[in-house]
Amino acid sequence: MVVTRKLKYDVPLLSMGGVAIGMSEEIKILGLTVDHKLIFNTHVANVCKKAINIYKQLARAAKVSWGLHPEVIRSIYTAAVEPVILYAASAWAPAAKKVGVQKLLNSVQRGFAQKLCGAYRTVSLHSALVLAGLLPLDVRIQEAAALYEKKKGVTSLAGREVERVVAFADTPHSAKHMAMGFVSLVDQSHVESHNSQDIRFFTDGSKIEGKVGAALSLWDREAEIKSSKLSLPSCCTVYQAELLAICVATRHILRRREGTFGIYSDSKAALQTVTNHSALHALAVEARANLSVALSQGKVTSLFWVKAHAGLEGNERADHLAKEAALKNKTRPDYDLCPISFVKRQIRLESLGEWNRRYGNGVTAGVTKIFLPDAADAYRIVRKILPCGVITQVLTGHGGFSEYLHRFKCKENPSCICDPSAIESVPHIILECPIFSRERWTLEQELDIELSLQNICHIMNKRKAREKFLEYAETVANKIIRRNKEA
Ligand SMILES: [Zn+2]
Repeated sequence: MVVTRKLKYDVPLLSMGGVAIGMSEEIKILGLTVDHKLIFNTHVANVCKKAINIYKQLARAAKVSWGLHPEVIRSIYTAAVEPVILYAASAWAPAAKKVGVQKLLNSVQRGFAQKLCGAYRTVSLHSALVLAGLLPLDVRIQEAAALYEKKKGVTSLAGREVERVVAFADTPHSAKHMAMGFVSLVDQSHVESHNSQDIRFFTDGSKIEGKVGAALSLWDREAEIKSSKLSLPSCCTVYQAELLAICVATRHILRRREGTFGIYSDSKAALQTVTNHSALHALAVEARANLSVALSQGKVTSLFWVKAHAGLEGNERADHLAKEAALKNKTRPDYDLCPISFVKRQIRLESLGEWNRRYGNGVTAGVTKIFLPDAADAYRIVRKILPCGVITQVLTGHGGFSEYLHRFKCKENPSCICDPSAIESVPHIILECPIFSRERWTLEQELDIELSLQNICHIMNKRKAREKFLEYAETVANKIIRRNKEA
């Protein structure tokens, strides 16, 4: 295969043992089909075919009213289908910006999204994705590529450096690993039975009012002899703060002359990371290296987990200091690498913005937009209501309503039985139809808000009101659907 930007080039002639070797247009390397023009159309077609095969098997087992539960389909989708498509996404992400590729991806995703929310097959892609709580596949591909680049340090996040794990080759050989573990202490007497060390470090990390801080308090046998506060930027997590405090404690150990040390932390996660030799967090790797050097100097360190907020004096002191460090410290941060979780959140926010723009500009999903006008809000709401069955019919307008049945030639006229000139659409039955005025009035009294086109999205944004409103919509829609079935 020849990969070149040149329009004119000579195809090299290769031969082996007198046999000419022909040029190929594409090569499959590690599951990624690379073509000589680097457009990746073949690769996309291949992965889509794979995903569609999964869909076909799924479609047989998942029908609107029976079969696989939507949550099972969601697990299959997130665990099997998305990874198949997102594989090596960072290599071919630019290809996903092409309209042709997007169309192919959309057709794959549409089927899954419809199965997830139990929608009719006529439902538009936008509606199905919003109700299924899925981001468009091409947006997910850009997300995966952006995350990969940030993790590798190719691009930065608003000037902040991203925390990266230590390369495996840079960690000590497993023959040099020292035995590590920690003891869990539950109450004050338990703590006192383990206080034989010369110096004890109580460490803690804290996130308060969105600010992050960490602290350590040094104790000899009786009382505190020294304390220090550490500050971190607000993008950092409590976990990072806890790890930093432990790591700084190990730095202190290297400098001190005493022989035995104890490090007390109330974060099991941080202690587990420090004591697990295969955990590659930079702070944990440094802490282990420090402890190993300290051991070679004849200093023995024990690690302890103590229960947080249980009135243990050293821990309470560290907790107090960490909160102070978070709130008052104005000094330069002691650690300022932003965690991957923060990067992921930023990327997700950008994707939701893009998704919302597309959803808002799209001409489809008219009924869904009455209920969920904002795709980013919908992403949050849908996870709580998990629409299926009749609720999905109401939220999409595709269901047993006269307007829909008429549109797809299953019913002669689209009008409601209350008035021959009124079209029986979802807004009509929920907001106007006099047949349900009593139910509507009861709901309006309960919610203390008037049911109108403008108000529905506000109702959907509040949990309690939403539950009541959906209950009402389901009852009303059920009556209509039954009536249309009997007719
Ligand atoms: Zn009516």
